Amino acid sequence: MTTWENHLITTEALGHSWDDGLGPITRTLITQQRHKWPRLAHGLTNLESARQKQLTDPRNQKVLVDLIQISGRYDNAAAMLDPHGFCPLCIENLPSEEQGIAFEERLAVFPNPNPILTNHLVGVHKDHVPQELRSCLPHMADLLKWLREDMMVLYNGPTCGASSPFHLHIQMGAREELPLLEQIQSMEPELSLGDSGEHIYALQSFGRRFFLISTGKPIQLSPIIAELMDMLDPGEEAPVNLVLWRDKSTNLATLFPRGRHRPSCFYLPEPQRLVVSPGSVEMAGLVVVPRAEDFERIDASIMETIYREVSLPDEAWHMLLTRVEARFG
Ligand SMILES: [Zn+2]
Repeated sequence: MTTWENHLITTEALGHSWDDGLGPITRTLITQQRHKWPRLAHGLTNLESARQKQLTDPRNQKVLVDLIQISGRYDNAAAMLDPHGFCPLCIENLPSEEQGIAFEERLAVFPNPNPILTNHLVGVHKDHVPQELRSCLPHMADLLKWLREDMMVLYNGPTCGASSPFHLHIQMGAREELPLLEQIQSMEPELSLGDSGEHIYALQSFGRRFFLISTGKPIQLSPIIAELMDMLDPGEEAPVNLVLWRDKSTNLATLFPRGRHRPSCFYLPEPQRLVVSPGSVEMAGLVVVPRAEDFERIDASIMETIYREVSLPDEAWHMLLTRVEARFG
C-alpha cells in the first residue's frame, strides 16, 4: 500500500532548510521532479511554449490583463466534475514518481503538473475532505510566513475555479505573474476602513469588484476574511477566490466574491463560444485560455465584460458594502 512517506521528500534531502523560504525549496523540488515525472515535464514544456499577450486600456495604454494560451489546459477550463468520480489528489491515485514536501501535519506540497505560473505548487490535504475556505485559511496564513515576497498563496472555491472541489487544496506560485497585485497599489478605493494595524478596502477595477485586506500579522487576516464570508452568506460557503501575499511587513489578501463561475460566452454555440473559466489567477489578472482561437479573439472589451459577469452584480455589491461599513467603519 502506498504511504505518504513514499510521496514526501525532506527539505534537507533537497539541500535546503525552511529558513530558505518556500520559493527556493520548491524550485529545487520542481527541477528534480521534472526528470522523474513525465506528466510534470510535459506540463512545464506546455508552459514554456505558451503564447502571451497584454490587454491594454485603449484610453491610456495601461496594461490591464495578461492573456496566456497554454495547450493542455482545456480539461481544467471546461471540467464538469463528478463527486463520486476519480480524485487526482487522493494518495492512491498519485503516480508513484510524484513527490512533494510535507507542510505541518496535514498538508503535502507538490509541483502542479499543469502549471500556469512559475513555481506553481499545489498544497494538498492528506485526507479526502471537501474544499472549504474555513479549513484552508489557517494553512494559508501559516504558509504565508514561509513565503517570501516572490510568492503568493491562493484559494479557489469549490464552485468557482477549484479543479478538485471534493478534495481540500490550495495553490502557490510566482507573485509577479499576477498583474493585479502590483496594480492594486495605485488604485483608488471605493471604501477604505480600519486603522494602521488592520485595513479593508473595497475596490473596482476593469469590471471586477473585490476587497483588499492588509494586516500586520498573517493570522489577523483569517478572522476578517471569515467575517466577510459570513456577510456574503451566513450559511453555505459563498463562491469566492482569494489570494494572499506579503509586502515587507504587511500581509495582504484580495477576496473576490463571485456572481457566477463562468461567463455567458462559455455557453455560446461554436464558433462564438470562448473557453474562459475564471479562478483566482484569472481574477488577479492572468487569464488562461486553452484554445488558440480564443486567444486571438479576446480583447480588453471582451475581458471587461467577462469580469463584470462573474463578479458580484450592482445591488448585491452595494448591499454588501453597507454591511461591511457598518461592521468595520
Ligand atoms: Zn481525494
